Amino acid sequence: MTAQTVTTSTGTIGQIFMPMHFSSVNQFTHPAFDPHSCHPRDKADAVKITRSTSSRSPVCRITIVDPLWKIITVALVLRKIAVFWGLISATLIAEPLVILVSIDGCRWDYPELHDAPTLQQLSMEGFRVERLVPSYPTKTFPNHYTLVTGLHPESHGIIQNQFWDDDFKAWFGIGAHPAAREGRWWGGEPIWITAQNQGLRTACVFWPGTEADIRGQRPHKWLAYDGDMPEPERVQQVLTWTALPPTERPHFITLYFEAVDSAGHDFGPAAIQTNQALHLVDDALRQLREGLIKQGLWESTHLIVTSDHGMTEIDESRLIILEDLIDLDEVRVVFNGASGGLDSLDEYRAPEIVQALDQHPHLHAFARANVPARFHFSSNPRIPDIVLIPDLGWKIKSRSVPETESVSGGDHGYDNSEPDMASIFIARGPQFKARSSLKLSRNTDVYNLLCHLLKITPAPNEGSQILIPVAD
Ligand code: AMP
Ligand code: ZN
Ligand code: ZN
Repeated sequence: MTAQTVTTSTGTIGQIFMPMHFSSVNQFTHPAFDPHSCHPRDKADAVKITRSTSSRSPVCRITIVDPLWKIITVALVLRKIAVFWGLISATLIAEPLVILVSIDGCRWDYPELHDAPTLQQLSMEGFRVERLVPSYPTKTFPNHYTLVTGLHPESHGIIQNQFWDDDFKAWFGIGAHPAAREGRWWGGEPIWITAQNQGLRTACVFWPGTEADIRGQRPHKWLAYDGDMPEPERVQQVLTWTALPPTERPHFITLYFEAVDSAGHDFGPAAIQTNQALHLVDDALRQLREGLIKQGLWESTHLIVTSDHGMTEIDESRLIILEDLIDLDEVRVVFNGASGGLDSLDEYRAPEIVQALDQHPHLHAFARANVPARFHFSSNPRIPDIVLIPDLGWKIKSRSVPETESVSGGDHGYDNSEPDMASIFIARGPQFKARSSLKLSRNTDVYNLLCHLLKITPAPNEGSQILIPVAD
């Protein structure tokens, strides 16, 4: 950019910052000016042009002495200033605001099943993917991180809520576990880093990964996870950020709710308690919508409401007890439940152990290298030696490993192609057509869409472009 100082004989009119190749109107229109050399064509002409000594960029100083030229110049410069301010304000108005909401465990069909008014209204106002297919395993941390990186869990490295890393000789865990706050565990590039590296501002009311210094960066604003923070307070925090002046307002915001997942686990997907939890979150979304309307931002905001996975009914009658199939002394149980992972203590014994486990009519056991390609769950050394995928609704248990999970109510973690594991996806905003929809998309596709809405270049990822045309 160069600073163009335009001066009349009566004084300086103003400074125009522009790239040197976009010369000022005076340069193009005044017959005495050679735009290439910044020198007058005719020294006898009544125009004096000097080159500034600025070390960064040349500045042309044009002194007009002819009264007619004085008037023309004033008019042209005023017009230029008006255009310039118009551009500035248009740029500010056009600055993106994308809010990404996750309702943990909100199955794709919940808005209708539980008659959630705001979610239904948002679907009518915008675009909906009928079923967003999560990544395997259909658990919280792997899928939240896939949504914001466009990478399968085997590629971004958060392969479960809990896993062992043999290089670090350490466990990853969620909740109070400190690992989730250490950047070294998190691969790929989450959207908040992509956005910040390209000059945008980000702010997060919770999201797995936002507390970790991934590649040395956290979101500009973030909160330590607090599952007890009431839903309206979370929304109020978002509205406090959106109320900031345009030059400070974040361009990308996350908002996370766990109440629907918790109720789904405790009582099952169809339970009245799950209905109540969804209505609580739905009401928070109504509050968000109304707040943005009051702030005059609703029309220009892109709001995406999605989830990490769905939920299915479970009960005590569908248990797979590991001790009934193998000798537990031969393995280490890395995780079990709706998805299982075992490390074989003697690697040569692994094929036989896999074979024994696979005998169960509701269990599919694979050596890590043989997990079918559609799961994208074999390339990362954090994935245990033996991968166990039970049929929908069946749970893997061990009598000797202390039980932390309930065996009734609801669960997730199963095969990601099961419809019950599919997530909700609703997007509304200026780039989405009302009442538009798509049958299926994968959650690896969301990152590219976010980048498109934020007008930034995505980092390399494994998502398709399928969601881009719906946002044009
Ligand atoms: P899941 O076992 O996959 O159902 O995990 C859901 C749980 O993950 C929620 O109930 C939360 O307690 C927890 N959770 C979600 N987000 C975070 C976070 N950012 N930090 C720590 N724990 C979280
Ligand atoms: Zn979850
Ligand atoms: Zn859950």
